[in-house]
Amino acid sequence: MYRFGPLLLTLLLVVLSGCKPPAGNAGNASGEPGSTLSSSPPVIEWRLATSWPKNFPGLGMAPERFARLVDDMSNGRLKILVHGAGELMPAFAVFDGVSQGKIQMAHAASYYWKGKTPAAQFFSSIPFGMTAQEMNGWLHYGGGMALWEEVYRPFGVIPLAGGNTGMQMGGWFNKPINTIADFKGLKIRMPGLGGEVLKRAGAVPVNMAGRELYGALQTGSIDAAEWVGPLNDLAFGLHKVAKYYYYPGWHEPGSNMEFLINKAAFEALPKDLQAIVKVAARAINQDMLDEYTTRNVTALNILVKDEGVELREFPAQVLTELEQISLRVIEEQANQDPLMRKVYDAYHVYEQGVRQYHKIAEDAYSQQRQQ
Ligand code: CA
Repeated sequence: MYRFGPLLLTLLLVVLSGCKPPAGNAGNASGEPGSTLSSSPPVIEWRLATSWPKNFPGLGMAPERFARLVDDMSNGRLKILVHGAGELMPAFAVFDGVSQGKIQMAHAASYYWKGKTPAAQFFSSIPFGMTAQEMNGWLHYGGGMALWEEVYRPFGVIPLAGGNTGMQMGGWFNKPINTIADFKGLKIRMPGLGGEVLKRAGAVPVNMAGRELYGALQTGSIDAAEWVGPLNDLAFGLHKVAKYYYYPGWHEPGSNMEFLINKAAFEALPKDLQAIVKVAARAINQDMLDEYTTRNVTALNILVKDEGVELREFPAQVLTELEQISLRVIEEQANQDPLMRKVYDAYHVYEQGVRQYHKIAEDAYSQQRQQ
């Protein structure tokens, strides 16, 4: 009746006879391998490089926490060694590093790769675009992730959302911005589409890694700079080299970070480790926003109350004009690149829909709270 009857009986006899499996898994003295039943699964080591300084608050902590979580969830089977910007490669070389398989993962922001594929910009933040909450909705329930995967597919790179800074700040300036004309000739660190918008307004946008900003502002090689928000800007000491701290961060209303994974390395993982990588990234994605929401408040208090920073709001007319330029710039770029057009159209449809709901939800509540 039972085909495996004799085998089961043999196993039962072995157990009853008190046979113990070989101790350890390194094999016995004669060099024979130990029992496969007791051997540990292989440990896989990955290298992850970031676009941020090692352990930098918020941005730099996300990959560290991700690595710890993956280690714990996999019971040590997948070890991810995290390297800050410049340790293995420069901040803006990490995409190529992953694409070429020099490293298995990176933690960065997609608008840095606009020169490779302009559609990438929609997966970090675009001027006057979606907030953190809206971005997460679009990516995970509105079709955004599938488009992001499509945009990175030609590079052999798999993206995962890697945290959100929430609404950023407008940046550090040494002269006031009263009208749009005040941007003329202003050399300002502003990456991505925001930089392109300011260029149309007459500014000279530059991109540089965060750790270069303090020196560049101090020596006057740039006049103004945006970085992230109170937590990160305080960490770099930008308040010591600029006078005015402007809000809101019209250019980055909810900046989504990214985990980049080499496709071949990911596909070589067993299914359970693949799931652990995805679930850990999703947890860290939310964790970053929670941390910024809390720690930006503390950091802003330090900047304003202890450090005497002058907080300024961009005039409404300046924001209105920047928004008009933004729409033109995005339309023009989308017209030159079919994939960017496809992503922008999808982004736009989702944004218009979510905006209608948020008008009677978040926006209505915020207005009431200001009274
Ligand atoms: Ca920024």
